[in-house]
Amino acid sequence: MIIAMRPGTPDSEICRIRHILEEKGLRVDTSMGQHMTVLGVLGDTSGLNPKDFEGNPWVEKAARVQEPYKRASRLFHPDDTVVDVGGVKVGGKKLAVIAGPCSVETRDQMKELAEDVKDAGASMMRGGAFKPRTSPYSFQGLHEEGLHMLEEAGHGAGLPVVTEIMSADKIEEFEKSADLIQVGARNMQNFELLKELGKIRKPILLKRGLSATIEEWLLAAEYIMAGGNPNVILCERGIRTFETYTRNTLDLSAVPAVKKLSHLPVIVDPSHAAGLWWMVAPLAKAAVAVGADGLIIEVHQDPDHALCDGAQSLKPKKFARLMEELKPIAAAAGREC
Ligand code: PEP
Ligand code: MN
Repeated sequence: MIIAMRPGTPDSEICRIRHILEEKGLRVDTSMGQHMTVLGVLGDTSGLNPKDFEGNPWVEKAARVQEPYKRASRLFHPDDTVVDVGGVKVGGKKLAVIAGPCSVETRDQMKELAEDVKDAGASMMRGGAFKPRTSPYSFQGLHEEGLHMLEEAGHGAGLPVVTEIMSADKIEEFEKSADLIQVGARNMQNFELLKELGKIRKPILLKRGLSATIEEWLLAAEYIMAGGNPNVILCERGIRTFETYTRNTLDLSAVPAVKKLSHLPVIVDPSHAAGLWWMVAPLAKAAVAVGADGLIIEVHQDPDHALCDGAQSLKPKKFARLMEELKPIAAAAGREC
């Protein structure tokens, strides 16, 4: 971090700030210019906030030169991280495509869909059992029963399974049934949940919050990693903007941005971004073209009767067609599908 002091700052004030920083175990290099003195703060500055220094009337400007996250940063980990989810590699050459319904509804639905998405080339199956619904009167999911249906169907078809956790008291249960534990957009900044997920080693799929900046999202990943769990996969799922035509606005620029800032794999969810089934295929293709490591796509046999998110769900045949259409795009982006 760099702290520029105003012209005329008394030496005693510069010494006081230096002392505060040195007490925190940081090194301070002082450069005296003709008008200004600039303090270069060296060491782990992730616990400092430049704004705290700018409250001092003698400070002209304080700014970071290093991102506030360390473990998620590419600076200290130049190679791409590949996360192993039940034998499926996420972040490598092969795209990881997760498919399945928004919510687990019935045993037959799950078994049929598991076979369909597997035959189409999906590498994992999704299905929500604990649903974060905006209205308390909407279908809330089948809870433990749904978790077991997902596990049975996915594993029966040889697919690792992904499902969303909403509270820390369910971690033990999720560790047994799920291969990848999803933290949904609404819980991206549930810091107590993130800290608890940092204590396990099961891979975590961390969706971007509804209005989260890329920095806030990477700091959420840092919470999990700081606890000791390095197995984090990021998921861009659209952000809130002024546009209402789509459910959210898919921030495709987040993919190359995250790739530059972090070594963690990043996948894209075109279903929750668009909210419209016919937009899922073009957005999925765009995501692969900009370098996403994978996709998570909602698929349902009968979207008209889906208990959640039918409007954005692809029928199995359309999903299979999309998987074919992704192949040349994946190849052009140096990937396999
Ligand atoms: C989901 O994947 O089912 C979901 C609720 O997504 P998000 O958290 O991105 O809204
Ligand atoms: Mn959904």
